[in-house]
Amino acid sequence: MDRAKFILDEEDMPTAWYNIQADLPEPLPPLLHPATKEPTILPPPLFVEALNEQEFSTERWIDVPEEVQEIYRTWRPTILHRAHRLEKALDTPAKIFYKYEGTSQGGSHKPNTAVAQAYYNKQAGVKRIATETGAGQWGSALSMGCMFFGLELKVYMVRISYNQKPYRRILMETWGATCVASPSEDTNIGRTILGQDPDSPGSLGMAISEAVEDAATHDDTRYSLGSVLNHVLLHNTVNGLETKKLMEEQADTYPDIIVGCVGGGSNFAGMFLPFVKDKIDGTRPDLRIICVEPTSCPTLTKGPLAWDFGDVAGMAPIAFMNTLGHGFIPPPVHAGGLRYHGMAPIICHLRKLGLIEATAVPQMATFEAGVTFARSEGILSAPETNHAIRVTIDEALKCKQTGESKTILLAHSGHGHFDLAAYDAYLSGKLEDYDYPEEKVKEALASLPQVDR
Ligand SMILES: *Cc1c(COP(=O)(O)O)cnc(C)c1O
Repeated sequence: MDRAKFILDEEDMPTAWYNIQADLPEPLPPLLHPATKEPTILPPPLFVEALNEQEFSTERWIDVPEEVQEIYRTWRPTILHRAHRLEKALDTPAKIFYKYEGTSQGGSHKPNTAVAQAYYNKQAGVKRIATETGAGQWGSALSMGCMFFGLELKVYMVRISYNQKPYRRILMETWGATCVASPSEDTNIGRTILGQDPDSPGSLGMAISEAVEDAATHDDTRYSLGSVLNHVLLHNTVNGLETKKLMEEQADTYPDIIVGCVGGGSNFAGMFLPFVKDKIDGTRPDLRIICVEPTSCPTLTKGPLAWDFGDVAGMAPIAFMNTLGHGFIPPPVHAGGLRYHGMAPIICHLRKLGLIEATAVPQMATFEAGVTFARSEGILSAPETNHAIRVTIDEALKCKQTGESKTILLAHSGHGHFDLAAYDAYLSGKLEDYDYPEEKVKEALASLPQVDR
């Protein structure tokens, strides 16, 4: 019998996260202070020490605290599926596997770090966390994490999403978080923006500024970020470690190609980092690792590798990363999680070293792939995940042409049950492709910070 799914026993779950910084052939460039441009840590009033230590640690293994393992076990380990029905639908000799992170209570990989971050804040005596959210994926994941550890959470949600996409807000409130539309009356920056434009639709940049101000002005409050940073990628390696074990020990195979979508990079890095180590070691030189992004926000495929601010306001540390410019505001595609102007420095560094590659796909083609996946495997995937599904299908179709039976591993980051309006737009022929706004990127790149390094 050809198995359809592979799963670990709870007692075989990873008990330590894998830290790629121990094995990088060249160390990561530092983070720079936004004003002095000297190497810096994450701003201490915003982040607790334990997370700051993890951010710069070069220890290969970092123990998952027992309390975090206990919460992980409420949904982990997650299942590795063999996509027999998709393979049949494509009539491909490729063997397609996917690791599905949509079975977490939040519906994606994001609770992997949300739970860990809530734990470390609780340990440090923090009472309250402030964060921002666009469409609500990160806000809801952190609401869940804070609920488990008895922390208060204030979420600044971009106003236009707050009004148009109420369901994730309701999820946050059910878990006990407070969610306000941003710009709000609750911060100085929010009041200033509303003073100038009472009908401001908000933006992720404004919401970040409000959450940072909130954390900086309350002694008991810290700030939290759901992607990009090293410690966020670290917490997500629990997924890649599970997958590697399942592939080697149960499915008795090893991927030729690993595919995932990248917004800030956390879900895909969490999957591929334990595998990229084999490439660095030279034991799997032919392994291909493909990052997929939208053509409307082509950070890796069109953005230069440069020093840029992590945030729109130019107040966050400066990172060396591929960037479209911190002032770049991507078009309103449905994959809200893939619209960040920069990218995790770890991903940019590995790409520079030639260890991973990147490609971009247009929105319509991603929904077509998502519908093919739903009509074969049954799972309705997040619009972000559909980007990875597109490239998985394309690689499987190449195998059909060449007759090769490659093993393809898809990092499936989450379900799309809160994105049905986007599917509705696609199915009723109302969805469009957005061109890469070259002029806007040029404008945004003109304001990169001057760094002499
Ligand atoms: C947030 C999100 C992403 C993008 O974020 P990364 O940090 O790049 O992983 C991808 N898929 C889903 C389902 C998400 O919720």
